[in-house]
This record gives sequence, C-alpha cells and structure tokens, in this order.
Amino acid sequence: MTGPGLISLFCFLITAAYFLRGGMCAGVVLCMGLAFFSFSRRGWLRRSVTFLLQVSLLFWGAEAWRLARLWMMEGGPFLFWTSIPAAALLLHAAAILWRRRGEKNLPVPELARSRVFSVSVLLLFLLDALVPFRLLMGERILPWQGANGLAILLLAWWGGYCAEGLLNPQTSPRRRQVMWTVFASAFFLQFLLGVTVAPSLLMTGKLHIPVPFMMISGPVYREEGFFMLALFSVSVLMAGSSWCSHLCYFGVWDCLAAASSRRKGHPVPGGKKACDWRWFSLAAAVGIPLLLSVWGVPLGYALAAAFAVALTAPFAWKRSSENGVREYCSRFCPMGLAASLLGRLSPWRMRVRETCTGCMRCASACRDLAISRGGGACRISRRCTLCRDCISRCPHGALSLGMAGPFSSVPSVRADMYFVTLVSVMHVVFLATARI
Ligand code: SF4
Ligand code: SF4
Repeated sequence: MTGPGLISLFCFLITAAYFLRGGMCAGVVLCMGLAFFSFSRRGWLRRSVTFLLQVSLLFWGAEAWRLARLWMMEGGPFLFWTSIPAAALLLHAAAILWRRRGEKNLPVPELARSRVFSVSVLLLFLLDALVPFRLLMGERILPWQGANGLAILLLAWWGGYCAEGLLNPQTSPRRRQVMWTVFASAFFLQFLLGVTVAPSLLMTGKLHIPVPFMMISGPVYREEGFFMLALFSVSVLMAGSSWCSHLCYFGVWDCLAAASSRRKGHPVPGGKKACDWRWFSLAAAVGIPLLLSVWGVPLGYALAAAFAVALTAPFAWKRSSENGVREYCSRFCPMGLAASLLGRLSPWRMRVRETCTGCMRCASACRDLAISRGGGACRISRRCTLCRDCISRCPHGALSLGMAGPFSSVPSVRADMYFVTLVSVMHVVFLATARI
C-alpha cells in the first residue's frame, strides 16, 4: 500500500495547499485527514479514499478548465496558467488507477460503510463551502472554521459505523436506537444551551416549540415558515416513514419509553383494530391554528396553547413505558400519520414472504402497532415506520425490506443496503446541521 498511499498523500496535500491559499480551513483539515487515511488497509476506508480522490480529480478538472478559459480571455503564458492543475490531474489519475488495481470486492456492510463515509464527507463539505452562514456543528462548538473539517471526518466515520451495524439484523435494533438517541440528544442539548448560555447554538435566535405538530401548525398560523414542513416532506419522499424510526427529534423519547417497558417483547395486537387518534390530531393541528389566525389571537397566546398541548406528550410516554408500544407516535402524532401517508410515495416497503406461518413472533418486536394477523400470515399496516426491528425476529426469514413501483425487481439485500445507506447519510446530515 506504500506506493498508492504515497501518491494519494501527495494528491491530498496539493488540494490542501489550494484550500489554504483560498482560506478554506475546513478543506485543509479535511484533506490532511484524508492524506492520513491514504495508507489505511481497511477495505471500506481504502474504497472511500479512492472515491474522494475521484471527486478531487473532478475538482482539478474544473479548475484546469476555468484557468484555461481565463488564459483564452486574458492571454499570457499558457504553461503558467495550466501546468499546476494539469500536474494535479495527472497525479490524481495515476493514484486512482494504482489504488483500483489492489481493490477487492467488499462485503455488503463494508460497502455501505464506505458509501456512507464518502457521500457524507462530500455533502457536508459542500454544505460548509456553499452555505453563507455557520451551518455545521463543528464551527458552532469551536469558533474556528477548521473545526468543521474535523467534524466532517468524525461525523462521516460515525455514519459509516451506524450503517454497518444497521445491516446486521442482530445489531440493527440497538444501533438504530443509539444513533437516533445521539441525534435527538445533540438536537435538544443545543436547544437548552442555546436558550441559556450560548445563543450561537440556535439557528435563528427565535424561540420555537420543538414538537413535530408545530411543523404544520406553525406555518398555518403564521402563513410563513414552511422550511421544516418542506424538509419533512422531502425526507419522507426520500426515506419513507423511516422519518418516524430514524430521524424525528421527538419520537425517539417515545421509543425509549416503550423500550423501557417490562412488557417489551410481548406481542401487541396492531393493524386496523388498534385505536388511532391521528386523523383527529391532524385535523386539530391544521384547524385550531387556522381559527386562531383568523380570529387574530396574539402569537403569545397561540404559543401558550401549543406549549400546553406539547406538555401532554409525557403522559403518552408514560403509557408507552407501561405498554411497550409507542403510544404517542402510533396513536396521536399528526406528523406520524402524515409520514405514513406521504411515505407511500417513496419506494420503501416491508415485505412478507410466503414462508410466513403466522406465528406472530415478529409482532413482539414491533412498537408501532403495525403488525396484525390475517389469512394465516402476518400483515404489515400503514403504521409501519420501516424500523426493520422485526426482520431478525422471524424464525422463517419471511420479512425483508423491499422496493415498490419501478424498483420492485431490486433484490431485498440490495434494497436493504440502499435504504441503510440513505438513512445513515440523512442521519449524518441532520446531526451535523439540525438545531432550533
Ligand atoms: S409519530 Fe410524530 S413524534 Fe413520533 S416519530 Fe413520527 S413525527 Fe416524530
Ligand atoms: S412492522 Fe417491522 S419494520 Fe414496520 S414498524 Fe413494525 S417492527 Fe418496524
């Protein structure tokens, strides 16, 4: 690995020097980190470094083109304008070819880990470079732009680690819970520190009520502020109802309450018969703020009403901790209903194969009241949040994640890998950027 490692190191050092000249400290730290990783023998990291070298090659190609156009417009010595990017391009091409010669096929979990790491690094770097305000977590905590480079590497590593665990059916339920708790804790910790001692940890400095129904009630009352609703909709269109099992900053507390129950592991009858107040909640989440807005009720009173409603959530969590199911999410949250309806437009679905005997062991893993029995087999209802916890519970291997519509021919192993890669990258981006 010494040869390809050395040449990759030079490539990243050249790119780091370019960023240093442009004052992009995050890019410098990131390239130095990748230069260090160039010598790694771990399959997923080697593959990631090669991918990021390809991205760097594209960057130098664009830079060479920009300088060549400048030369054509302004004249001057052609060699002076183009020699450095051309040399960087050649070096990158040689490094990529050399590295690819030694690469082997990776097992699915390592492949997913590599993809999550690479895509997270790329997305977070672009967000840091293009967004004109402090967006990433690193610079919010340490007021130096280089901190973002380190944060990007750490968060991308964390995303890859989560993805690898999610692809193992035995470790998936625990890993999902841990990653979700980490995200929600970082979100609320920033909120608490932001309103008490460090306002830089808040997004706008304006106080919000961080409960999901406010995503819809807030814009209805104010007739503006649709960002969170748009973010929610795009996330659900991409990852389906897994918003409610991987990404929501609020639902995790209900999940932890249900997981703490002594009744955990007992099957709970789900499906259509389970009591569902969510249509009523959705109507209230739209109708009440609309009326308050039409009647001209001042913002302070509207916020107080929303706060009073939000205070009822702990009562639902208490019931969750008694019953072992997510009472708030699966019976009351309007955004949970919105996620399951809008999620039908995404391609992700849980599948039940013919090998299902209707033993209902899977139902003991489902905290969302999504599994019922029908026709001698289990049925998965619209309440499913794609948590995938039930897959490992089936002794007959009858459950899997699949894709619908034009992607229905994708094998479930591939579908699972694509899904896990997607939610892990979304988790990393949310973790790096989300704040109130
Ligand atoms: S049901 Fe509501 S609170 Fe629960 S995870 Fe979904 S959006 Fe969040
Ligand atoms: S049916 Fe399976 S994947 Fe869907 S919510 Fe229940 S446990 Fe999770």
